Formats: sequence, structure tokens, C-alpha cells
Amino acid sequence: MTSLADLPIRDDLRGLTPYGAPQKPVRIALNVNENTHPVPEEVVAHVTSAVERAMRSINRYPDREFTLLREHLAAYVGEGTTPEQIWAANGSNEIIQHLLQAFGGPGRSVLGFPPTYSMHAIIAAGTGTRWVAAERDADYRLSPATAAAAVERENPDLVFLCAPNNPTGTALGLDTIAAVYEASRGIVMVDEAYAEFMPEGEPSALSLLEGRPRLVVSRTMSKAFAFAGGRLGYLVADPAIADALRLVRLPYHLSALSQAAAVAALEHAPAMLATVGAIREQRDRLLVELARLGYAPHESWANFVLFGGVDDPRATFEYLLAHDILVRDVGIPHHLRVTAGTEAETTEFLEVLGRMNR
Ligand SMILES: *Cc1c(COP(=O)(O)O)cnc(C)c1O
Repeated sequence: MTSLADLPIRDDLRGLTPYGAPQKPVRIALNVNENTHPVPEEVVAHVTSAVERAMRSINRYPDREFTLLREHLAAYVGEGTTPEQIWAANGSNEIIQHLLQAFGGPGRSVLGFPPTYSMHAIIAAGTGTRWVAAERDADYRLSPATAAAAVERENPDLVFLCAPNNPTGTALGLDTIAAVYEASRGIVMVDEAYAEFMPEGEPSALSLLEGRPRLVVSRTMSKAFAFAGGRLGYLVADPAIADALRLVRLPYHLSALSQAAAVAALEHAPAMLATVGAIREQRDRLLVELARLGYAPHESWANFVLFGGVDDPRATFEYLLAHDILVRDVGIPHHLRVTAGTEAETTEFLEVLGRMNR
């Protein structure tokens, strides 16, 4: 066996670290912001029968244009979205990869605002796109002036925004998105992986799409929709964006089984989203209770809470893990991130943390 360093790997990949959220078999996994509630039995039964039907024609290639899935996604997104505006892939990570393959690449750059979703920089590296990091304002907020100034200074080919932002939970105003769009000449992607957890009635970047052909809103079925294992992400944008992505995607990239399962699950959208309210309640409870325990939680519009005031994140992570609870050390000094789980999971997390000697 040889080592990675001895292989003729691309120079720009040497020394990089892969995405590495630990996958450990624990009883209470609150580390990757999944919906931790069980999938409703009637959905399991319906998706299983749809997959069984798809198996009867598995000898044939699937619909390359995933027409039925795009119709279902457009209906799910609402707000007048048409199927032509939808593109889908194996998780929104692949959506981001398609965007960087088509609009980034060697000699091009993408601007982001860390701390943000770690995969944005990792997929940039994988596609040979230069990642440029710009500053946020106090408490991880991002004002129109701060964001637009960074865009004007760096003149990137793409700008990645994240609303609400992972790992901080910070909301992002539509005024900032609009200002970034005005300041840029390239693609502006708003990663809305946690859109369904935003406060009721808050507008999303979808409302800015009209008249902005370079704006892309990325969504996923992995979080609120409780479909992380199904690997289904999508974007909403001008139909010309999908034409660009057709140039870089692999033919038949969405398997017949993925398409059938996602279509069937989308037919149960209300049941799949029934737990969103309960998850928001547990998130708000985390904000209150973590503060009561002496930590410094950050306001969150998503299904997780970043909290500061952790003397030794490594030690707290290990202590929780020893009690069968997995949280996330996102690399921000004196901080940890925890997903809002079921009421029972949240209770146990808070009780165990409260018993820790600090
Ligand atoms: C979890 C997450 C995703 C989801 O990626 P998938 O590939 O769709 O599972 C995308 N963006 C952000 C910001 C996330 O936190």
C-alpha cells in the first residue's frame, strides 16, 4: 500500500482534508442537522411501492430530464415556480458542484463569507475554483454594505451566500442578497438548505428571482424534509441556468430509484414536514436552556444552535460522546453546534451537558 503523498495527485489537492463530520454509531446524533424524527409509516409504505414499480424497468436508463420530479419539486416550492426553473441532483452538494463546474473552474474564483458551510470551499477546491473568504459583521451578521464591498473588491465569478447560515444559524436579509447581486457580474447562489425552518411568513430569496437571471436558490430534501439518505437537492433559477448545468452533469445522474423515491415522498409533503414546528420549539428551548447553563447561544433561524462559552470544545465533545450524544465541533474557538432533535433527545442533551463539571 502506498500513501496519498506518493500518488500523482493534482498539486492543488495536495495537503487538503476531506469533509469529515464523524459518523459514529451513537444513540443521539445531533451533529449533521438531520430531521431526527422517524419517517411516518404511511410514507415508508408508499415510497417502497414506488421504488418497487421503478425496479420493473430498472433495465432501462432513467428519464435524463427527471420530468416528473421537476414537476413535483416546482409544486412543492410554490411561489409560481415552473418545472423549467428547477434543476435537481444527488444532494445540493452535487448542485453546488454542477454550478462550479459550469461557472467556476481553473482561473476562476468564488467568494464566500466564513464561518459558513464547509462544503462550499471543499467543492470549490475539487473543481479547481479559487475560494476567496471575506469578513462578516459582528455576531456573524452580513450587511448589504459589507457584502457588496467584498464583491466589488474581489470581483469573483461566483458568490456563495447561505441563508440561514450554517453553522451560525444567522438570518440573511433580502437587502444583502439584492446588494450582492447588483455588485457582482457573476452567479450569486443562495444556499437555503434550512429554508423550511425560517420564521413563518419570512420571504426567501425565491422572491428575488424575477428579473435576476444570475441568481440561484439552492434547496435540499436533506434537512426539514427528512430525506438526507435519499440524496436529493435542487435549485430554482432562470431556465437558462439549467441549460448551463446540462453541459457538465453526467447523463442520467439521478437514478430511477432516486427519482421514484423522491416523487413519492413529495406526494406526502405535509406528513414529511409535520415535525418542523416541534423542531423549531426545541431549537428555541435550546436557546433558553443553554443560556441558563451559562453558555452563549447565537440566535438561529435553522434547526441547530451554535453556542459559545465552551472552555474546551474538544473535552465537551468527548464528554457528550461518552454519554452517547454526538454534536459538532465546527472549529470556531470555544463553540460547539447542536442540532434540535426530538423533545426527548434535546432533554437528554441538556441534562447531560448540565451535569458536566466545568
Ligand atoms: C446540510 C446542508 C446542505 C445539504 O447538502 P445535501 O447534499 O443536500 O445533503 C447544503 N447546504 C448547507 C448549508 C447545509 O447545511
